[in-house]
Amino acid sequence: MSLNMSKPSVVVFDLGKVLLDFDYGIMARQLEPLSRLKGVELKQVIDQSPLLHQYETGQISTPQLFEAFVSVTGFSGTLGDFSAAFADIFSPIETMLELHARLRARGVPVFIFSNTNELAVGHIRRQFPFFANFDGYVFSHEVGAMKPTARIYEAVEAMTGKQGTEILYIDDRPENIEAGAARGWHAVFHQQPQETRQVVAGHGLV
Ligand SMILES: [Mg+2]
Repeated sequence: MSLNMSKPSVVVFDLGKVLLDFDYGIMARQLEPLSRLKGVELKQVIDQSPLLHQYETGQISTPQLFEAFVSVTGFSGTLGDFSAAFADIFSPIETMLELHARLRARGVPVFIFSNTNELAVGHIRRQFPFFANFDGYVFSHEVGAMKPTARIYEAVEAMTGKQGTEILYIDDRPENIEAGAARGWHAVFHQQPQETRQVVAGHGLV
């Protein structure tokens, strides 16, 4: 047994509301002029209908998502219009990007662990250079399961080659954090960037 057994050796980041903020309202406003549905109803189709869940668990492809979106909303634009509207919803959370950069500079392996989808990942890769600087990525649409399902946490353990207290995990959703803590991970409920930074520093990682 290592003396460092309780000290985490890798950091696993949730993406949305941790490293990048996002607002599906922006997407809804862009799509609204070409849609029959308007306002809150349109936004709910985007972020609260079963469609997004099916898309983010890889059950439906991007063209299938688009086809279903058209049939529900009466959208008259193209898949290109729909895809482009996904691009503008993200904005960086600078304090957390600095924390990520410091961990990289210290040689700490860092991973992305996200409930997400093909369109979002494509746009984020193109818009945000920091996103290339991770040691691995666990995406719900590739694994076929979403947090807080155990299967996607197992995928993180497989990708990092770590488990239990070797993993420091940062996420803004309590149910996701609980599932990580239940596996013995150091789980940080992210609310304020400065608080999260202090927790990471407290583990001696930055
Ligand atoms: Mg999140």
